[in-house]
Amino acid sequence: MAQASRKEILAALTDAETLYNQAPCGYLSFAADGTVIKINQTLLKWLGYYAEEVVDQKKFGDFLSKGGQIHYEMFFRPMLNISGSVKELSYELVKRDGSTFHVLFSAIAIRNAEQTILAVNAIITDNTDRKHYEREILRSKKLAEEEKRTFQFLADLIPEMIWTADAAGEIDYVNERFIHYFDLPGKSFSLNYILAKIQPEDRQRFIASWAESINAAKDLHIEIQLQNSSGQYEWHLVKAVPYLNEAQELIKWFGSCTNIDVHKRALKQKDEFISIASHELKTPITSLMGTLQLLDRMKNDPAPKMLPSLIERANKNVKKVHTLVAELLNVSQLNAGQLHLNKAMFKLGDMIFNCCQHVLTEGRFEILIEGDGHLEAYGDQNRIEQVVINFINNAMKYAPASQQISIAFTAGQGFVKVSVTDQGPGISKDKLPHLFERYYRVDSSGSQYSGLGLGLYICAEIIQRHGGEIGVDSQLGEGSTFWFTLPVSE
Ligand code: ADP
Repeated sequence: MAQASRKEILAALTDAETLYNQAPCGYLSFAADGTVIKINQTLLKWLGYYAEEVVDQKKFGDFLSKGGQIHYEMFFRPMLNISGSVKELSYELVKRDGSTFHVLFSAIAIRNAEQTILAVNAIITDNTDRKHYEREILRSKKLAEEEKRTFQFLADLIPEMIWTADAAGEIDYVNERFIHYFDLPGKSFSLNYILAKIQPEDRQRFIASWAESINAAKDLHIEIQLQNSSGQYEWHLVKAVPYLNEAQELIKWFGSCTNIDVHKRALKQKDEFISIASHELKTPITSLMGTLQLLDRMKNDPAPKMLPSLIERANKNVKKVHTLVAELLNVSQLNAGQLHLNKAMFKLGDMIFNCCQHVLTEGRFEILIEGDGHLEAYGDQNRIEQVVINFINNAMKYAPASQQISIAFTAGQGFVKVSVTDQGPGISKDKLPHLFERYYRVDSSGSQYSGLGLGLYICAEIIQRHGGEIGVDSQLGEGSTFWFTLPVSE
């Protein structure tokens, strides 16, 4: 197509009517009462009308939404009267098909010599895109806020202490659990505040590791004791990972503190237990070795006088080893859930009589049994005997000065209760809740009595697996009563 001559282009440019009609914005002139006097093609196209349908036929207000009409009356007109112009007011215009679009509206009033408004000239720009962007920005902002709230919720809900630090290692965010654990004074605190909460023995080690991690931008992984709001120190695993930007620069640290106190204590308890167990096993075995050496020496002796006492001593020590090994086996069976019960109805009186034989043979203690000989219970008789024997043996061991050990069995509503009472030193109140815990021994440091602290734990497990209860009533200086209950039927 032949190119338009410069003259032609200039002519087109200077054609005011063309400029007016094809401008990228809408032009509108209306009388003081709103009647449209002039409107350009651009605006007509946006609205979906022909000029003859609008000029002298419609008022500016006809193109406004309901809210727009109110705004026009309440704000636009008074503003125009006072200042003679309005600038970039946001309106929603209604098209012929009823749909709407957003515009920015600027207008200037044309007045006569008496300052009365004759007409209004307006420029209208399509604001749909801008509105769309504004809505997008608002939506993204809402989404970001929503995500922030979700993160906050998550961070505060998880049972971990979570924190972040800046590149220099200064803590700049902590979650609710963190604040709660240390009872922090609000959200503003320094790294020094947290350092003061580290057990002094661990502090230097932590500072050195943290500095090393920051310098090398490498993960932190350290176990330290932290002081909680009640002043107690608890073991924690403190971890932190560096966050690098695209240029591989360290910009933030994400960290957590996991409470591993129970786990640490359990490990320590296990270590202590292994050392006690080895010691407990070593004593009877050493004694047994001594006895065997003596027996070896006298093997050619025609009439060895010491033979009966040596055999008795050997028997005693083998029994000790056997008891200890049986306890250890019981515990591992319990842990593995392999303690099988052969439940049946059995007579309580007979069961208790079986349990007392070794005490009666020994003759050191008087045994008093009280109960209705017809009473029956439902359970694994051998396992229940194990519990009663444990109670009796403990009475003999821990209450050696007792003259008497009383065993009673009584009937309750749907259960029977068996109790073993001694006249020993009793147990202080603060120790009572722990007696049935694994490895617990009242006097764990003293070596006055041997034991692994497993007997009562095993008893409690056996009784609980029968659906019964186990307990102890005791006061210092008043003796102790260990008891349990059992169901009377399946
Ligand atoms: P152990 O192997 O140490 O005897 P137990 O679990 O049987 O383990 O007992 C736990 C602790 O309970 C014992 O170390 C002992 O201090 C205390 N205890 C148990 N029975 C009695 C009792 N009749 N009188 C006083 N203390 C007792």
